[in-house]
Amino acid sequence: MNYIAPDARLFDKDGKLFVPEEVLDAVRKIIRWAGDDPEREGLVETPARFARAWREYCQGYEEDPGVHLSRTFEEVGGYDEIVLLRDIPFQSQCEHHMAPIVGKASIAYLPKNRVVGISKLARVLQGYASRLQVQERLTAEVAQCIWDHLQPLGVAVVIEAQHGCMTGRGVRTPGVAMVTSRTLGCFLDDPISRKEVISLMGR
Ligand SMILES: [Zn+2]
Repeated sequence: MNYIAPDARLFDKDGKLFVPEEVLDAVRKIIRWAGDDPEREGLVETPARFARAWREYCQGYEEDPGVHLSRTFEEVGGYDEIVLLRDIPFQSQCEHHMAPIVGKASIAYLPKNRVVGISKLARVLQGYASRLQVQERLTAEVAQCIWDHLQPLGVAVVIEAQHGCMTGRGVRTPGVAMVTSRTLGCFLDDPISRKEVISLMGR
């Protein structure tokens, strides 16, 4: 999915990710557009740093986050209660402004016969967060991925985040967080399960 320029090599002579000239030039144009001089000393290396940083922010395009859920464990010792990973910090990029989205997510599921290593839930979040996103879609994608791969009885994902496009520009309201949630299965249909997961999430 990543754009490959005709002259693309993987690495430059310093061993860093190669950045095609046309990408460097595009960033110089943005710097000029913003009102500064891309040739001045402090900015000369900025286009390359910027370009490499963006490949890193968008690393999620290079993976299918579902792979992290392919290895499951059926030996759960009779455990049939909610599994919850709370307040996982993450960063993403808003697709409307390419500004940072910084927040935390709580991910819960009610297993049916199989569980995954707990860090895998954070990996799924990271995979979808490392793309250009809107918070609503990120929330839904994480929930759907767990639903499809683990086929649990229920999934709940709650994300709370601040958006750079709102805190640093536009209405400039630092400290204001946006909350989104997606529930599936019993956390959607059964009021008692729903109440339990929401209270475990501390909301
Ligand atoms: Zn935005």
